[in-house]
Amino acid sequence: MKLIGYELVEKPCIYTSNHIINKLSTSFLHLIGYEETDVLGKTLIEVNCLLKSEQQLSLQDVTDTRFVYIFTSANVPVEVKISTEILDNEKIYYFERQENHTLDFTLHNFANVNTRKNESQAIFSYPECILLKHDENYLHTLSLIDPITEHPLGKKPTFSNNILDLFKQETSLHEFGVESLNSDGLTTYWDINLNMIRGNKDNQFIVCSFYDVTEKVHDIKAITKQRNEMRLVLDDVENVVNILDKDGNYTYINKAGMEFIRPFIPKYIPDFKSVNINLLYKALATNENHKAAFDDIPAVRVLKGETFKGHTIAGASGVQATYYVCDATPIYDEQGNIDGAAVVYKNLESTYESEEYKTLQENVSYVSFYYVTYLPSDFTINYINDYAFKFFKRECSTIHTELDVIGKNFFTLYNAEDTELLIKNINESIANHSSYTHKHNFSKDGRTTYTKIIFQPVFDKSNRVEKIIVLGIDITDEEKATIQMEKLLTAQDELFINTSHELNTPLSVIFSGAQLLNLYLEKESLEDVKDKILNINATTIVNCHRLMKLINNILDISKIESGLYELNLCNYNIVAIIDDIVASVSEFTKLKDIQIIFDTEVEELIIALDGYKFDRIMLNLISNAIKFSVTGKIILIKLVIIDDQTLSISVKDEGIGIDQQNIDAIFSKYIQVNRELNRISEGTGLGLPLARSMAELHGGSLHVESTLNKGSTFTVELPMKIVDTVSTNQDIDRTEIIKQEFSDIYL
Ligand code: ADP
Repeated sequence: MKLIGYELVEKPCIYTSNHIINKLSTSFLHLIGYEETDVLGKTLIEVNCLLKSEQQLSLQDVTDTRFVYIFTSANVPVEVKISTEILDNEKIYYFERQENHTLDFTLHNFANVNTRKNESQAIFSYPECILLKHDENYLHTLSLIDPITEHPLGKKPTFSNNILDLFKQETSLHEFGVESLNSDGLTTYWDINLNMIRGNKDNQFIVCSFYDVTEKVHDIKAITKQRNEMRLVLDDVENVVNILDKDGNYTYINKAGMEFIRPFIPKYIPDFKSVNINLLYKALATNENHKAAFDDIPAVRVLKGETFKGHTIAGASGVQATYYVCDATPIYDEQGNIDGAAVVYKNLESTYESEEYKTLQENVSYVSFYYVTYLPSDFTINYINDYAFKFFKRECSTIHTELDVIGKNFFTLYNAEDTELLIKNINESIANHSSYTHKHNFSKDGRTTYTKIIFQPVFDKSNRVEKIIVLGIDITDEEKATIQMEKLLTAQDELFINTSHELNTPLSVIFSGAQLLNLYLEKESLEDVKDKILNINATTIVNCHRLMKLINNILDISKIESGLYELNLCNYNIVAIIDDIVASVSEFTKLKDIQIIFDTEVEELIIALDGYKFDRIMLNLISNAIKFSVTGKIILIKLVIIDDQTLSISVKDEGIGIDQQNIDAIFSKYIQVNRELNRISEGTGLGLPLARSMAELHGGSLHVESTLNKGSTFTVELPMKIVDTVSTNQDIDRTEIIKQEFSDIYL
């Protein structure tokens, strides 16, 4: 057995006899990089094994030319052409190294040092799939997917069939999450990248990269499982649950949600996976009465980073609005960026259990009192009934739809005089578990609305304030009646003051007259003091009239108020009556040097009157005109026929006049405007209200026009009608009336 020198054989070759190597060329050793002793004397099977070519061929069976990859001692694959020659009883194997640029390129560029964990690379021949080279990590990969192969170079892998099938595709490809079940029963998952490298002729290689994604796949599987379980649970929930991705696409809508939105999704859209916020917003908006701005809807706001807890929104469809409480939160990825959102809508009504409460809820929309509920934490309104909505709308010009109210701070809409104090008081009553009552009034367009507002806290089972119910009752009528009553009481006070004065003055006069009379009667002869006694008596009579006037006026007022005052109508020539009245007061006007003139358009005019009451009206107006005029002025009485149904009688004086601000007050009972004039004008302030009531009893009216310091004109308007009675112009005893009516004028 010997080594054949270069000079003899150039080609790398081995000589065999009975399949045992007995000679070899030096160049063969150069080619394979082993020592002579590694080869010489070894069987062909052993050499086949040494060169790692046993899976490609069996050396002793080679009879013709074969191409094969052998591996040097440095595990470098080399393509060789093997040919044989039989010489005597020896068989010579020639190994001719093949120039293979594609192989060189592939070996040079791939499956080198690999630093990434869970990743490995290997080069296989194609189509035989002989492993030609691998990086360090590949052995670990192999241990997971092919534990049988201990020394893999030169061998075909025994991967799972599904992986081997990839190798047969004859194309570059990338497969994700490929499952591998190895012979130990271990399941692993791999992202596999196959890169076909094609050279000239038949030489092709596959560079295969393995990425261990087992953990990730397990995670995904766990998440998917969880998600499926979660979906099963969420589908059973009554609330609407939506999950969106960051672009506003719905990735999950539970059953309740689907049922809610299905009617709105246009028919051409096959399922919710194609639904996004824009589309749903448009679809819902066309079906709603109230429309929120797109940027205001919770889903949009949550994707911008807002979180909602107990946020109420009105999801109106049809006439009746339904309110939802929305809880929503953004979903963040590992970097903290918004990756989506979870939005839950609870139907508000279903959160309240009590039947009684439900009944109230159902009815509060229709009842005539304000009903608002707001949250104690941030005062946001979550319910408002129709009545309250109309009220808010009237009070605040920026409110158009219920959405302008729902979710807003209650106290920004409720115009309390001192909001801070109100909140403080409400909080105190919450602490005492009681309600707080507040009066609220609001004026617009000259109309004042008074409301009594009750703030009632509602506590949940754990004694926390769940919300505040605001109940408001319109008390405008009661409040106005109270104001009226207060005015009346003040007026009555006035009456008492006036009446006591009115009683006092004549009484003192009568009393002192009586005392004086005593003196005269005791000391002097009656004849001497006759004039004085007559004088005292006259004064007593005047003052008695004055007392009678007061009592009559009070009686008349109360008769009118109780509706017992009746008219006794007869037909009179009103011109004649006024003539008579003017004549009968002339004694008073003359004494005050006042000229009284009666100017009439007609000589005679018969109309139906209550003669006594008409006298009272005229004498009250004339006595006032005299009372409030200074000496030397004129009083003009004028009768005018306004139309064929109405006549007017005016009494015009040039007296002190009345301030415009008091014009209405003088017709109110017990009002005396010019108190400061008391000394010259006594009275109770009952005359004008009585005169007006009497004119109105006739179907007429009494009004005044006056300028301060210039004079006043009081005008009575009466209807021109007659009654069917036989007698006309019943005689009236005017002297008594005059005596009373003029009793408070100091002449
Ligand atoms: P009285 O009997 O107290 O005079 P009236 O009801 O007749 O009550 O009048 C009420 C008030 O109206 C008077 O006190 C006076 O202030 C005012 N008044 C009535 N008539 C005149 C007038 N002609 N000129 C100025 N003021 C008048």
